[in-house]
Amino acid sequence: MSLRVLLVGNGGREHALAWKLAQSPLVSDIYCVPGNGGTAGVNKTTNHPEIKADDFAGLLKFAVDQKVNLLVPGPEQPLVDGIADYFEENGPARIKCFGPSKAAAQMEGSKAFSKDFMKRHNIPTAAYENFSDHAVAKAYLEANKNTKFVIKASGIAAGKGVIIPETHEEAVAALSSIMLDREFGSAGDSVVIEEFLEGDELSVLTFSDGSTTLSLPAAQDHKRALDGDKGLNTGGMGCYAPTPVGTAEIMARIQRESIQPTIDGMRKEDFPMVGCLFTGFMLTPSGPKVLEYNVRFGDPETQTLLPLLESDLAEIMLRCARGSLDGISLKLRNAFSTTVVIAAGGYPGSYAKGTPMTVTNPTTDDSFIFHAGTSLSSSGQLVTAGGRVIAATAIASTIPEAVTRAYAGVEAIKFDNMHFRRDIAHRALKQLSTSQSNGLTY
Ligand code: AMP
Repeated sequence: MSLRVLLVGNGGREHALAWKLAQSPLVSDIYCVPGNGGTAGVNKTTNHPEIKADDFAGLLKFAVDQKVNLLVPGPEQPLVDGIADYFEENGPARIKCFGPSKAAAQMEGSKAFSKDFMKRHNIPTAAYENFSDHAVAKAYLEANKNTKFVIKASGIAAGKGVIIPETHEEAVAALSSIMLDREFGSAGDSVVIEEFLEGDELSVLTFSDGSTTLSLPAAQDHKRALDGDKGLNTGGMGCYAPTPVGTAEIMARIQRESIQPTIDGMRKEDFPMVGCLFTGFMLTPSGPKVLEYNVRFGDPETQTLLPLLESDLAEIMLRCARGSLDGISLKLRNAFSTTVVIAAGGYPGSYAKGTPMTVTNPTTDDSFIFHAGTSLSSSGQLVTAGGRVIAATAIASTIPEAVTRAYAGVEAIKFDNMHFRRDIAHRALKQLSTSQSNGLTY
């Protein structure tokens, strides 16, 4: 079979997806819309910035002209806008989509919707209330002055719509900035006010055909811009996997109490999850609780996890899209992976674009460079083109070694005002040094 893939997106996640898909003997061509400076160099892959990622009619016409048979939307926006439904309703049956319907994408597009879903299906999550009226929400905060809350804009806010106030006054201010000042636009038309949870976080990416699930090892990302988990929230500054807090016991519990009930609940409610379900968890003293769902691969989790995957990604995606995931398992490298994201100075605030850059190390069997915000200038010079610019991933047999190698990869990337965290995987490294000083083996 000759698989012709249309991959929508231009982040590090899409570079990693293209890189992994290109290794499949099933795949003959990958068309990236629009793609980035990294996807431009991937085997079998071409970039198509002439097509707009939100122009579904243009995407479908291109897909038909190029005889595409697998559509892979990378980011959430096209899924939330209904790209899978559009292709199904208007395209030839031969084009399968690895991604869920608009109805299913509400699990990411609306936190109020996903919290109500979790309640209906008894999936462990933080206690919460949904509000669409500011006065009512404020009265709720006033009536619970001594409770520590988390305040979330319900809609999509580029990973920035969650505020964790330290005091009641800060909570009231956060509520008014989301609902009255509309800091996140219409994403703040409704808010979720939920119980503050404490514990270690982990993320699980799960392939699903609507019934059967196959999960990748648990990953831990680093959302804050600065070392020590300080500074503003970002799309993600680095990641490592498998995280030791995701023990076999925890993973089995998560699967039993949360992931499978989510997939079953979505199917029963007639919006099956076809594609990659991302579930964020907090490991609380009373057990793992779901923080959020995404209905697509995470960024940067994908850049960390795909190098650990030995299985053929194209075959898995096809099986998800066709409903035939049952009976296969994931082959994984027995190793640890670490990704360090390099951002443009100023990110997640304002930053420069068009800065010339050099990348001197090639991708090898155990170290990888994934481009995110890069492009090629008209003269062929690689330049920055976004906030999160590029990432270095490395895999090794221990976490410290994977971390050291990922930072060696960073050394080979140069551009003015580059910024990256120097403490990726610090939680695991700290735990490791504690367990070593306790004489425990790890
Ligand atoms: P979310 O987009 O809902 O995953 O939230 C983004 C980040 O906010 C999470 O990765 C957590 O670090 C934090 N967060 C979200 N919900 C809670 C909660 N209920 N308690 C504590 N921290 C939370």
